[in-house]
Amino acid sequence: MGNQEPTLPAWHVLENSFEIVQQQCESCAMLLALPDNIYELIRNPMRELQVSIPVKMDNGKIKVFKGFRVQYNDVLGPTKGGIRFHPDETIDTIRALAAWMTWKCSLLELPLGGAKGGVICNPSELSQGELERLSRGYVERIWNFIGPDRDIPAPDVYTNPQIMAWMMDEYSRIAGKNQFGVITGKPLYIGGSVGRNTATARGGIYIIVEAAKTAGMDLHQSTLAIQGYGNAGFHLAYLANDIFGCNVVAVSDQRGGIYNKKGLDPTAVFEHKRRNGSVVDYPGAENITNSELLTLNVDILCPSALENVINKHNAGMIKAKIIAELANGPTTPEADAILFDRGIQVLPDFLCNAGGVTVSYFEMIQNFNMLYWEEGEVFERLRKKMAYAYHSVLNASEKYHVDMRKAAYSVAVQRIADAMVLRGWV
Ligand code: GLU
Repeated sequence: MGNQEPTLPAWHVLENSFEIVQQQCESCAMLLALPDNIYELIRNPMRELQVSIPVKMDNGKIKVFKGFRVQYNDVLGPTKGGIRFHPDETIDTIRALAAWMTWKCSLLELPLGGAKGGVICNPSELSQGELERLSRGYVERIWNFIGPDRDIPAPDVYTNPQIMAWMMDEYSRIAGKNQFGVITGKPLYIGGSVGRNTATARGGIYIIVEAAKTAGMDLHQSTLAIQGYGNAGFHLAYLANDIFGCNVVAVSDQRGGIYNKKGLDPTAVFEHKRRNGSVVDYPGAENITNSELLTLNVDILCPSALENVINKHNAGMIKAKIIAELANGPTTPEADAILFDRGIQVLPDFLCNAGGVTVSYFEMIQNFNMLYWEEGEVFERLRKKMAYAYHSVLNASEKYHVDMRKAAYSVAVQRIADAMVLRGWV
């Protein structure tokens, strides 16, 4: 196997995710025979904000960063969704991610709409001070667009609880009072919820458990490859190994991947990445490329990084039986069709990674009530919601004879369409 990826194909840049959302909306509208007026509303974001954020850099110079916040649809409630800090961010990726948040909240029956935010930046090139000034500067620009009963951000790619703490603090400073409910994914003790940090991975595990039951697969014997070793990828590896003894045979990050057919120790790999900046060159494992990881002979493949990595070029070579999408938008519609024909079960992003926003919603409830739950309560409420959503998607896939993504769309969009009718929007 190769040592280093020669030129990592940046699929998240090559494909336009918002065009993909529009294709997905079109096929959903056909499946549900949606009236034209509803179709017109679900394929367009409601509100978009683009801002310039001036940041005083450590060298004394001002640098202006571009930021976005898109509120896709709020028919079901205040909008909700993470903030990404990424060098390749565009308004179209944020639009797509905001749409997927809308379907995600609907599918999980959360009283929330969907939104997403992003800043074009490379956090690995920023000092802590610069990162704090950028985080506060972003809130300073968008504060009157968001709010606890309007639009509630959260962490996403390359943002974390510390960044949420700065953003909440900045919003509270502007409001002149503590406003814990403006943002979720905060650290504990300043309004965070137990279980939020691992919630995306834990929710994914609950979905995988249900899917394994449906497929008659014994998770204790199964092998797992995980692309991306950030918050979601690492916790998925850890929990799958810890709870079921799953054999995590390969993981990767931006720089490349590692493989050991006997299994990796998720915590030791995480420690190696923390010390060296990458999982690559982990002792006792073979270095592989990200593309090689995706086509390994494993039972479960978990894309946990960026969009469009499973596409028409590699879908025919994937050997996993189940693809559990912890990332948002990792599979293109062309790849979906190929995988469906090949009998590979795709657990779609806005089902599989919905644990994060679900515990964010629990965090909001705890903030409003000023009453904090114990871990067991958070996990059990999450498990019930995830299992219920999985079975509603499975039932729809059997009813319409479609793949799980189209089925998830049908459940989520039908609820949104019904709400629009009830509210008299169409
Ligand atoms: N960023 C996460 C997602 O894509 C969580 C969003 C939230 O908690 O609001 O689902």
